[in-house]
Amino acid sequence: MSGVHYIAKQIGAIWQFHYPGRPLKSHICYSVSMPSGKIHDRVTLAFLPFVWLICRWGLHWGFWVCALVTLGAFIGGFWLSPDLDTRSRPFYRWGLLRFIWWPYHWAVRHRSVLSHGVWFASWLRLLYLSAVLALLYMAASLTLSRLGGIPFHSPRQDILRFAHAHIHDILWLGLGIWTGSLLHILLDKLCSSLGNRPHSRQKRR
Ligand SMILES: [Zn+2]
Repeated sequence: MSGVHYIAKQIGAIWQFHYPGRPLKSHICYSVSMPSGKIHDRVTLAFLPFVWLICRWGLHWGFWVCALVTLGAFIGGFWLSPDLDTRSRPFYRWGLLRFIWWPYHWAVRHRSVLSHGVWFASWLRLLYLSAVLALLYMAASLTLSRLGGIPFHSPRQDILRFAHAHIHDILWLGLGIWTGSLLHILLDKLCSSLGNRPHSRQKRR
C-alpha cells in the first residue's frame, strides 16, 4: 500500500470513528451526492490557507517563495490537475487553449501513474506544458519573422535565457503544483478506499 493510500485510509477511519452514522463517501465521492470535480475544487481552495501557513509560519520560507508555492497549489488543483487525462473541469478550464492537452489526453490513460502518480506526474505535466509553450513561441517567432519582416533572432536563446533567469521561481511554482496535485490524488484514493470511484470516464467532472 502506498503512503498516500495509507493516509487516505486513515482519514476514512478517523471520520468513521467521529461520525459513525455519516459515511464520508456520501460527502465527497462522485455518484452519491455531488460531482467529485466540485469537491476537488472546494478542497483545493480550502487547502490554500494551510499551504500558506505551513510555508510561512511552519517552514519560515520567504514571502515570495510562499506566494509561488500557494499559487502553484491553486494552479495544480484548477489547471494542471491530474484529471487533465480525461474530460474534466480542469481540462475544460483551458477553453480555446485546451488543444494543448489533446496529445496528453490521448497518450495518457486515465488515472495511470503518468497522470496520477505521486512523485513525478505533476512535474511531467509542467514539463509537457513548458515544451508546448516553447514550441508555440518558436513557431510564432518564425512566422512573424517570415510574414511580418521582423528581423529573426533566435527564439531558442530567448527561451533558454528566460528559463535560466527564472529557474528558481519555476521550481517553487512546480513544488506548489505538486502539492495541489497530491491533494487531488489523496482525495481520489480516499474515495477508492471507501468503496466508491470518485468519477467515471464518461461524465464531465
Ligand atoms: Zn483524479
